[in-house]
Amino acid sequence: MSDSELTKICMSIGYPIKSSKSPSLHTVGYKALGIEDRYVYLRAEVKPENLKMAVDGIRGLGIRGVSVTMPHKQEVMKYLDKIDDTAKKIGAVNTIVNESGKLIGYNTDWIGAVDALKQKTKIKGKKIAVIGAGGAARAIVFGIIKEGGRVKIFNRTKEKAEEIAKSFGCEFGNLDEISEIKDFDIIINSTSIGMGNPDESPVDKKLIGKNQIVFDVVYNPKETKLLRHAKEKGAEIIFGADMLLYQGAEQFKLYTGLDAPIEAMKKFMEIGK
Ligand code: NAP
Repeated sequence: MSDSELTKICMSIGYPIKSSKSPSLHTVGYKALGIEDRYVYLRAEVKPENLKMAVDGIRGLGIRGVSVTMPHKQEVMKYLDKIDDTAKKIGAVNTIVNESGKLIGYNTDWIGAVDALKQKTKIKGKKIAVIGAGGAARAIVFGIIKEGGRVKIFNRTKEKAEEIAKSFGCEFGNLDEISEIKDFDIIINSTSIGMGNPDESPVDKKLIGKNQIVFDVVYNPKETKLLRHAKEKGAEIIFGADMLLYQGAEQFKLYTGLDAPIEAMKKFMEIGK
């Protein structure tokens, strides 16, 4: 049996990792393309102190692709052989591809956010409020500015917003200025507010209008309080699950070299329902 005939292993690593949808999402893709005998997708819980050993394991076992999630997206960069330029700019890796023993780091979060937005709107020239200044915000702001959108970041810790604004060239402020978001075309929540809590929202309902698009990166629950309020106000909404889907589709291509079967994957994520 030659190397190319061996089943290729892909996986997700994170801590915790239990509720990750990526294993099922990629497996749905393998089945839709009839390549489930050539690829298998697993998950492993990797504690921060074991991250280097886990990366050695990718090399040792010849694992083809690894999706990296919290809290490893920055730390993992120092153990890789090469970081693609975009991931370097964003300062985080969520995807590792093993090219004949050489581990290359990519970031597909920004593509996930941009593709999710593009399903509903053009980005160029739009005034976009990004709430939050963590890892997800960095990828999202990078993507929007690359597409010609105009961003203002609002964050609890103003210094963190300022740092991203300086890296990518946009406005920034703290949460005292959040009432300004009523004048923006698009509002994006990139904080973890609402994650696992259907009663929490970063935005007062009265700041949302019917001509706006509201995008929440939080994907659990699928319909957050913010999105519920936006819907009630007649605004367009974009689910965090859409971003997960499109960033996963890009990873699928990097791991298999094949276009992801997006309709099958979309159905699995129940987007639009
Ligand atoms: P992170 O780096 O830890 O950043 C968290 C951000 O949330 C910071 O800006 C933080 O503000 C803010 N925040 C947290 N609690 C807050 C509170 N009580 N009040 C005000 N601000 C608060 O996390 P991350 O990696 O950016 O992830 C953020 C969320 O996005 C997570 O829920 C993650 O699961 C989700 N995510 C979704 C996708 C997707 O594909 N849908 C992809 C990546 C991440 P400070 O700076 O002031 O601390």
